[in-house]
Amino acid sequence: MRFASLGSGSKGNATLIEVGKTRVLLDCGFSVKETEKRLLRLGCEPDSLDAVVVTHEHGDHVNGVGRLSRKYKLPVWLTVGTNEVAKDTDFNQTCFIDPHSNFEIGDLSLQPFPVPHDAREPCQFVFSDGAVRLGILSDLGRVTPHVLSSLDSLDALMLECNYDYDMLMEGSYPYSLKKRVSGDLGHLDNKQSEAILKKLDLTKLQHLIGGHVSEKNNLPEFARQALYRGANCESEWISMASQENGFDWRDVR
Ligand SMILES: [Zn+2]
Ligand SMILES: [Zn+2]
Repeated sequence: MRFASLGSGSKGNATLIEVGKTRVLLDCGFSVKETEKRLLRLGCEPDSLDAVVVTHEHGDHVNGVGRLSRKYKLPVWLTVGTNEVAKDTDFNQTCFIDPHSNFEIGDLSLQPFPVPHDAREPCQFVFSDGAVRLGILSDLGRVTPHVLSSLDSLDALMLECNYDYDMLMEGSYPYSLKKRVSGDLGHLDNKQSEAILKKLDLTKLQHLIGGHVSEKNNLPEFARQALYRGANCESEWISMASQENGFDWRDVR
């Protein structure tokens, strides 16, 4: 299995996951043109995609999904709740996710798990080829026992480090937005992400990548510190997904 990011952050998210001949795009918060450009940067022809899987209806995750689905005739997998409230749901084909049931797309197995976030029916995913497991977690207000058990003993993890609490509180956001971001249905701050890592079995972990880092309320260096403290590892071992460049392909064996 391998995975790569087209970009990560509040201006757009999209992650590519590949197993054998199966290629799935997790979320697409970029325009079709931007998505095509970013896919080609990773050596991926857009018409080689098999499906788009959607975590929730926020624009930074779905802005390009409808148009990409129609242009490349892609099925879109999402929860009934997300489909009800997403803006553009005129998909080439709609496939519903039960957030408590695993499902398969080609050679890829997906294990969804519901998360607390201010969306209708958000879920995040663990991807597997039957041998190794990759967890991708973003847009989470607080950790739950089910989130922790879903992420235990992974081989690779991309974890949200959205904001630094002090930077958010001292920053320019209006009070209501500060409350939303830091609330139980908002996003993970660096310390919450660090605490999650401390509760997980990381002995098999080959990749740890910080994602969805706020450009206004965080610094990649702060997020990196939280991750290496949480995982008790060397700082050089941690990667950060950027808004502009995401990150290049990572192999998980
Ligand atoms: Zn988001
Ligand atoms: Zn969101």
